[in-house]
Amino acid sequence: IFNHDIDVLTGEFHRERELSCRNPPAPPAQHEDWSPASWRRFPAKQQPVYPDACALQYCERQLQQSPPLVLAGEIRHCQQQLAQIAEGRAFLLQGGDCAESFADCQTTSVRDHVLTMEQMAALIHQATGLPVLKIGRIAGQFAKPRSQPEETVGELTLPSFRGEIINGREFSAHGRTPDPLRMLRAYHHSASTLNLLRALDNSVFSLYAAQRQESLHPGVTEQYYRTLRAQLQDCYRRVKRQPPRQPLLTSHEALLLNYEEALTRRDLAHGGWYNCSAHMLWLGERTGDVDFAHVEYLRGIANPVGIKCGPAMTQARLLGLLKRLDPQGTPGKILLIARMGLTQIDARLPALIQAVKASGHPVIWLIDPMHGNTRTAGSGHKTRAFATIVAETQAFTAMMHRHGVHPGGLHVEMTGLEVTECTGGMQQISDRDLSHRYYTACDPRLNRTQALELAFLLGKSWQN
Ligand code: PEP
Ligand code: MN
Repeated sequence: IFNHDIDVLTGEFHRERELSCRNPPAPPAQHEDWSPASWRRFPAKQQPVYPDACALQYCERQLQQSPPLVLAGEIRHCQQQLAQIAEGRAFLLQGGDCAESFADCQTTSVRDHVLTMEQMAALIHQATGLPVLKIGRIAGQFAKPRSQPEETVGELTLPSFRGEIINGREFSAHGRTPDPLRMLRAYHHSASTLNLLRALDNSVFSLYAAQRQESLHPGVTEQYYRTLRAQLQDCYRRVKRQPPRQPLLTSHEALLLNYEEALTRRDLAHGGWYNCSAHMLWLGERTGDVDFAHVEYLRGIANPVGIKCGPAMTQARLLGLLKRLDPQGTPGKILLIARMGLTQIDARLPALIQAVKASGHPVIWLIDPMHGNTRTAGSGHKTRAFATIVAETQAFTAMMHRHGVHPGGLHVEMTGLEVTECTGGMQQISDRDLSHRYYTACDPRLNRTQALELAFLLGKSWQN
């Protein structure tokens, strides 16, 4: 369905390509300390090498001339809401695909994602009495860092898939070649998704929530399952009485710096630079070196910024990142996303919590219980066990309580669809079941039932 767009774009591309090569954009001003392009002076990890520099320049220009996807005022409002979490007066629920795909940008999958997040938030709110802010990994989560730059199948070695904003999943030389036109497709898919997010309202949710009750029959009869059902039914009733909901806020990993730079705008009314491709962005585990390009880019924008904290994070690097990314110590600006894994969280996280606490920096701590708990099933599927995810989340909560720090929230890879990508949960998905509905474009996601169950258990552990 996008061939038409691509044809139109390619037609334009040939006309404008000579133009942009004759008049290349000015290089970043060296005298300025920071600009949207100053990252180009630093070493950058995980970036594609585009074979056609003119095509890249053309696409960057198109993005620079396109409307922002979110506005500076919305980003400021997001930060104000995050500041409440930093003060311990609310929770954050951040969730969505590991990697969005162009083909999945459909009404039903977006609606079911939002609906599931609304219900997860309602379960947490019901248990804790505190407001829950919802941020999707959506409308821009298209770029993926990879551990291996190449992949070999049989005799053939090709570049790894890096997310549909960069190259294709298809294992062919053509499919895996980075194509800058994909940045324009990602922008337009993000715009369509955002349009839908902004249009969905409570009436849609009460209607669909009512129809969804059946999918929660798992054939398992634990006591907590009955309580979960009762609470969810209460949620369905309440959703009709709720005030108009705030559209889901958006976030993605700030990975493909050409794209992020092109959507960076100065707020002429209030000053400051904003990344207008999402409300919140995060720095990935593989690109978090203090003196490298991704940190240079992120230090100049006013958006809230997340920092993934894996087992290799040291106190010194974390404090260095806080100083570089938020020297003022602004509440709601920095989110630390712990992704240690169940086997490492007890050994690795306490020192970081203590160091940050001692620094006085008003961060928000989140738990990502997905990325440290990935395993390969016998069938070859990458998967994660629900029980391990729950266990790491609860270890995080207990640790935060022990240190007198607010457990700020949850960052998960999830979908509103009933996929079979993670094992366990009420449906007791086994390794053998994984192949039934394994659809993810990258890492395994919690399905709708597993996501609701996690929120239910989490709400209980955040109760006090
Ligand atoms: C991700 O969130 O999909 C991801 C790649 O995470 P991390 O950088 O923590 O590995
Ligand atoms: Mn992932």
